[in-house]
Amino acid sequence: MPRRVCLILAMLLFASSVAQARARCVPVPHAMEDVAALNAFWGRTVRLCRLPDGSEDAYAEPERGRVMVDQSWLDAIARRYGGWAATGILAHEWGHMVQGDVDGTAAELQADCLAGLFLRGIGQPGSTVEQFAASNHVSGDQHWSMDGHGTSAQRVAAAWRGYRRYAGDRSRVALRSVCPASPR
Ligand SMILES: [Zn+2]
Repeated sequence: MPRRVCLILAMLLFASSVAQARARCVPVPHAMEDVAALNAFWGRTVRLCRLPDGSEDAYAEPERGRVMVDQSWLDAIARRYGGWAATGILAHEWGHMVQGDVDGTAAELQADCLAGLFLRGIGQPGSTVEQFAASNHVSGDQHWSMDGHGTSAQRVAAAWRGYRRYAGDRSRVALRSVCPASPR
């Protein structure tokens, strides 16, 4: 086979294996109940896919309709702050899935607020948002910036805002008034 054909074949194989890896969604068994509750609440069919252990990360991919998370990291957070902190992190990512076109710190604080709103919406007591707020306090930025997560105090306040102000109205207007896209 001519060398050039080999090279093209190798490139095609590589491209298709990358595409397969992207399309694959390794399930996250420890979070199945949270996923069901979040999708039911928001009327979505977002998939939760597993990142390799040790990634210590969670992020939303709205364009692919999925959230990625490291299950071992989520378990560690649940052990440290309580199971609702882990649920809150997923709820924050679902916030990114539903918030639309918002960027930077405004997007992060709105996602925290939508997570608090979700905990209220499914009828959980304030102790659940306390667990989430405790983990947010630790993961808040030391100094505020336009493209950060918000300071600890801002993150905690955003989660409580969503929890305290949500009164059951899930219209876009109501959601924006409970959880505005504000960078502070
Ligand atoms: Zn976020």
